[in-house]
Amino acid sequence: MTRGSRLAVVGAGIAGLACACTLRDAGARVVVFEREPCPGGRAATLIDGAGPYDHGAQYFTAGDARFIAALKRWQSAGIVQRWSGRILAFEDGSMRDKTDSAERFVGVPGMRRLGVRMAEGLDVRYSTPVARLRRAADGWHLHGEGQEEGSLGPFDAVLLAVPSPVAASLLAGLTSLAEVAASVNWDPCWAATMALAQRSGAGFDGAFVNDDPILGWVALDSAKPRRGQVDGVAERWVLHARPQWSQRYGELHQQDVAHWLVRSLAARLRRNLAPLQARAFRWPHATPVNPLPQPFLWDEGRRLGTAGDWCGGPRIEGAYLSGLSLAEAVLR
Ligand SMILES: Cc1cc2nc3c(=O)[nH]c(=O)nc-3n(C[C@H](O)[C@H](O)[C@H](O)COP(=O)(O)OP(=O)(O)OC[C@H]3O[C@@H](n4cnc5c(N)ncnc54)[C@H](O)[C@@H]3O)c2cc1C
Repeated sequence: MTRGSRLAVVGAGIAGLACACTLRDAGARVVVFEREPCPGGRAATLIDGAGPYDHGAQYFTAGDARFIAALKRWQSAGIVQRWSGRILAFEDGSMRDKTDSAERFVGVPGMRRLGVRMAEGLDVRYSTPVARLRRAADGWHLHGEGQEEGSLGPFDAVLLAVPSPVAASLLAGLTSLAEVAASVNWDPCWAATMALAQRSGAGFDGAFVNDDPILGWVALDSAKPRRGQVDGVAERWVLHARPQWSQRYGELHQQDVAHWLVRSLAARLRRNLAPLQARAFRWPHATPVNPLPQPFLWDEGRRLGTAGDWCGGPRIEGAYLSGLSLAEAVLR
């Protein structure tokens, strides 16, 4: 890549933003295209009348020195704090304390803040889903859904930081990377948000629920650091269904999903929960089941690449390192 190269990154999740920031810092002209109206992808925060909820990624951990460096920068900027809440694991009818099993961090005032911070100073085109890539004499052109006339481009390279089914569909017929991307399978996840007027008295801040047919994870989201408070709302919870249940009941109505998740938590706490409101949200591509061992895919000849948590590791740290590694490969 030469200084001033024009590069397109598709997807403003953690992987795409890590990739775009690294390329921009090396002197490339980078444009990021994002389907949604905001950055962050699955590191998301949903805000409603009861306040903010992290309905996707719950927290992150850091092991690799390159990601620890990013974490330190985010801590200095005041957009990440350690979450030292009490974390339990429910297993075979018993309860284990997992609070000290990892050092957990969250974005403040919500997980979405990571993406918002990373997108600062980047040229990000929001609400711009990319549906097709086309190679022309002057380089790559990007098209939206049903947009045959007019395109975005030209670009010297296109880097896809989207879930693998989207990448496979965009790359089909253009590079053999499409088949590699298509080999990754995903679990969906039904998530519910719940606001309570009274304290639940749960006695924990987060829990892995390993012995329930419906629930997989629950978090007292309002107890995370620096979450906003709303009058009349004592607690805000996020409830995640197990992958198998989310798969099996993919077609269930959102209200029914919320009902079943709240009911399962009430049974677990042995309390009658009467939510002020409870809503469900479906992540169709929540977790890659068989992520690739390599941290990115790069077709040097075609100048097409992919990054994301399905390359390397299904977590925020994996997504970040994947985006960074792809950018480094493009720069070599
Ligand atoms: C319910 C749930 C709980 C999780 N819990 C944790 C956790 O506790 N800890 C942890 O570390 N990780 C957790 N994760 C995983 C973590 O969120 C992901 O690993 C990470 O955020 C993935 O980042 P990414 O950039 O690879 O992908 P994404 O975040 O999916 O970003 C991809 C982006 O591409 C955009 N996009 C898609 N298609 C197009 C298109 N055609 N055109 C333009 N843009 C497009 C999307 O809108 C999105 O913004 C969780 C995920 C979920 C869903």
